[in-house]
Amino acid sequence: MTSIPPCTAVENCTIPTDIVLVSSDGERFSSHTKNLGEFTGSFPVDIPPGEREEVPMKNLNAKVLGFFLCFVHHHRQPDLGKVDFDTLSQLAEAVEMYEVYSAMEFCKMHMSAHVLNHAVDVLLYSVKHGYMDVADQAAENVVGDRGLSRSIVRVLAGSRVPLSSPWNRYSDYYRSQFDVYYTEPAPVLHPGGYESCRAWIKFRNCISSQAPRDKTVVSKFSQILEDNEHYIKDCKHCRIRAQRWGERARGRKTTEIGLFEKSLTFISEFRIFVLGQS
Ligand SMILES: [Zn+2]
Ligand SMILES: [Zn+2]
Repeated sequence: MTSIPPCTAVENCTIPTDIVLVSSDGERFSSHTKNLGEFTGSFPVDIPPGEREEVPMKNLNAKVLGFFLCFVHHHRQPDLGKVDFDTLSQLAEAVEMYEVYSAMEFCKMHMSAHVLNHAVDVLLYSVKHGYMDVADQAAENVVGDRGLSRSIVRVLAGSRVPLSSPWNRYSDYYRSQFDVYYTEPAPVLHPGGYESCRAWIKFRNCISSQAPRDKTVVSKFSQILEDNEHYIKDCKHCRIRAQRWGERARGRKTTEIGLFEKSLTFISEFRIFVLGQS
């Protein structure tokens, strides 16, 4: 009987090995059923007892499996900061699938660091696993970028329920959050019954061209109003109207802006879709 080589998942591991996991690209990793049982919620479910058992890990290539096995030891967690996104996302899926509770939060943190450069993938991952704080950030980046919006619509087009229209609903909902910044408040009547004067038109056009079309408008809006006040300095009616615009914007609950989770019907359809993909 040939014995199983020692474990190389972490440095100087002296735990006896009794199982071999084979990565999708054919690399063999010696490991310990006891650790796998202890650190994971659902592994190894299908492995019959017996020495030198070889278990094919079809969804994990050697790189991912190497990281995965680090997590089933009482050892420092591996540095995932420099790992390429493909490896990280496969690993993040694996720790969810096998319920490696100690690694889930850690992988989530690293996945969320990619909300900008991999917004679509991070959105799918976070919705699938119920990480709504990450989903909010990812959705915001997707909705704010035409190219990414088109690509999520393409992904969603593959679903049995047509989901691109709920995504458009979410986009509309998201944009409507900013209406208080982009639409002028009701007119303040001028002498002679006029709704506004030339000064207002100039002022309003400058505000609407300078206000950014994304969340940064929240912090920049007061300054934009102030920068353009000189246009209306001679008209007290317009000044009142501008003041109302500022007050209305300040009254906006900024913490609620863009919350993806608020589109609840969309989210549940979306989750069913991403769960069906795996
Ligand atoms: Zn080991
Ligand atoms: Zn005026």
